This record gives sequence, structure tokens and C-alpha cells, in this order.
Amino acid sequence: MNPFTYRQGILYAEDLPLAGIAGRFSTPCYVYSRAALTAAYEAYRSALAGRSAHICYAVKANSNLAILNLFARLGAGFDIVSGGELARVLAAGGRAADVVFSGVGKTREELRAALTAAIGCFNVESESELIRLSGIAEQMGVTAPIALRVNPDVDAKTHPYISTGLKNNKFGIAIEDALPLYRRARMMPGIAIKGIACHIGSQLLDPAPAAEAALRVLALADRLAAEGIDLADLDLGGGMGIRYHDEEVPGTAEYLAPMLDLLKDRRERLVFAPGRSLVGSAGLLLTRVEVVKHGAEKSFAIVDAAMNDLMRPALYDAWHDILPVRRDGGSERLYEVVGPVCESGDFLGHGRSLAIAEGDLLAVMSAGAYGMAMSSNYNSRPRAAEVLVDGGQAHLIRDRESVAQLYELERIVPL
Ligand SMILES: *Cc1c(COP(=O)(O)O)cnc(C)c1O
Repeated sequence: MNPFTYRQGILYAEDLPLAGIAGRFSTPCYVYSRAALTAAYEAYRSALAGRSAHICYAVKANSNLAILNLFARLGAGFDIVSGGELARVLAAGGRAADVVFSGVGKTREELRAALTAAIGCFNVESESELIRLSGIAEQMGVTAPIALRVNPDVDAKTHPYISTGLKNNKFGIAIEDALPLYRRARMMPGIAIKGIACHIGSQLLDPAPAAEAALRVLALADRLAAEGIDLADLDLGGGMGIRYHDEEVPGTAEYLAPMLDLLKDRRERLVFAPGRSLVGSAGLLLTRVEVVKHGAEKSFAIVDAAMNDLMRPALYDAWHDILPVRRDGGSERLYEVVGPVCESGDFLGHGRSLAIAEGDLLAVMSAGAYGMAMSSNYNSRPRAAEVLVDGGQAHLIRDRESVAQLYELERIVPL
């Protein structure tokens, strides 16, 4: 579902005109749709209907407490990658037993905190982590439920920065090393083997690589079973892509179908850990044009959002559609849509055809995932406000930061 539609030339978020949201909360401002978040989750649920399956939202895509709380109420579990994300999930009303902890560099403190909370599974990414975890669990008098995150060595055919399932990536345990490590894990006093996990990358539009990875994971699960190591969970990660521009994007059921076909006779519980596909299309970044500048070769629309608010264009050269909040049929020209940050890489879009004037509002689309979550305070810019729209109501779910907050942890020292 698309929650952001034009009515008589005015762009709405559900039943609210975005101009009203900008008037009330100012800009830049992230705007999310409750209906779209819910629909994205329900698409997974219905694709997995009739199977034993668990959907663990990948918190790093967007970790706002209100969004975590919404998913917790819908029945989701959570895939976390840090102690900070664990604290957020618990603060938002998520159940520890439904938490899966991924990540290549979990610290002793993070492992201890997760054992204390009694999370559902540690997705272990190295031999050192396994030994460390067993030791800490033994000290604490508990056992740690684990899956080994294997690296199946399949090419996810996505941007190299978000590809994680190839041999040369830092993620996971090479699939050929997993069998001996499972044998060792079985003997470790602090460890209880629960499953196997893989995650091959992000913004995947073709279901074939994920199905190939699942096939390799199943082969390993069968070898383990032959040795008496039975797994309760098969965690196939996240990674399903969304439409940013004109990509051909399969629906959730269509994307999962080849994988589910391979898995149809399995008795293990299936775990999926989607991030982007649950939140990406449900959010936009609302920004105002501060300055229009016509240079010798290019025209610039300098807006009040920047790379610190939405890093994906600068980081991955990612495309986000940029729509005028009021479409008035004026004559368009090509603009570089850029922020005020002092970097030439600070752009939101190149060569966009727009009819705009100073003071107009623009909506940077598909910004619900890895938007606010990757934002920074570069150039001492307070982070944007976040607003959750529910029908005709807008709720502020994160205050705009104040400048004073930016340096409240700093000290001037007597030298
Ligand atoms: C980032 C990540 C996900 C979610 O990826 P998306 O592409 O946002 O769906 C899932 N699992 C792990 C281990 C991750 O690191």
C-alpha cells in the first residue's frame, strides 16, 4: 500500500496534508505511516500463514521506540545488533524471548546483558564469540541458546556495502567451518544449540540468491541432524528490497515463494529478520527549500535536510524519489537537490525535474529505513523530528533535538 498520495495536487500522509505536518512540527522531519508499517508486517504474516514462523524486525533499520512498540504489539520479535538495541526493544515493550542477537563484535558486557534479559537466541558469528559466550553463560549459571550464523558464499547481487553473504565478507562463519564448530558447541557447557542463521545482504530484488542460500543452509541442517544435532530454528535473515525509483520489486509473498517452496516439508520453525521491507516505504523525509540558486551549469535547490539526516545518497549513491508537496503545474527545470552541509557529497538527488520556489516543501520518499537510524549531528545539526501518522492524526514520536543537547556531554577543561 502507498500511504503517500496526491489529492488535488496536494501530497498527503494517510489523511493528513504534509504541509500541515510541516507547519506543526517544522522541517526537516521524518513522517511515517502506521497503516503502511502494519501492512508491510501483515504481508509477511500472510505469506507465512499456516507455517511455524517468526518475524523478527531488524531494529537497525529504524529503532524509534514507537515503531518498535507498534511491531511488538503486532506480534513481532526483534533482530538486534547491539546492547543499545536490546535496551530499546525492552523499553518499547518487546519480549526478550523473541529477541535474536546478531553482530560480529558483541562485547562481554553486551553478551552478559542479553543473558540477563534471557533473549531467545544468540546468532554467533565466530569461534571466539562462541567460546566467550559459553564462558560467560557458565559463570552466570545459565545456558545460552545459539545459532551459528553461516556465510553461505552466495552473491546477493546488491551494492557491495550491503552485501554480506560472500566469502570475503566479515559476516558469519564460512559454511564449511560450521560443522566442526557445531560439534564443539555441543560439548560446551554454557551453550544450547537452537538453530542456524544466515543473512546474505540487503535491498535484494531477486529471490534466487536467498533461495540458494536457504538450500545451502538446509544441506547443513541435514548433515547436523545425521549427527544427532537437531535444530529448532532456521533463521533466513532479511534483505528483501523495496522500490526506490522504478525497480521491479516482487511482492513479499512472491519474494518468499521460492524459499518457502524449498522449506515446505521442514519441521523447524522459520525465522525471518526483515528490516528495510517493513519500514522503508512507510516513511519519508519532509524538507523545505531554503535557497534556489542558478549556477552557470546547474541549478541548485538547497533544502533544510542534508546528508546528516539521510546519508544513503552520499554513502551508496542511492536514489530516493523527491516529490513536491504541492504540485501546481509550474514549469519544471533540473535541480541538484542538496543540503547545507559543507561537503560536495551532501546531496539528496541529482538532476531532478521540479517546479519549485524558495519556501516550498519537498518529500524525499522511501526514507523509513536506514534514514533516521543512520543520521548524525555533522555540522552541529540537531537531528530531525519524527512523526507517526495514524489516519487523520499525527503523533510526535521524537522531538527535534536542540542545539544545547548537542554539546551537553562536552567539557571545557582548564589547561
Ligand atoms: C541488517 C540485517 C537484517 C535486515 O536487513 P534488511 O535488508 O534491512 O532487511 C537482517 N539480519 C541481519 C543479521 C542484519 O544484519
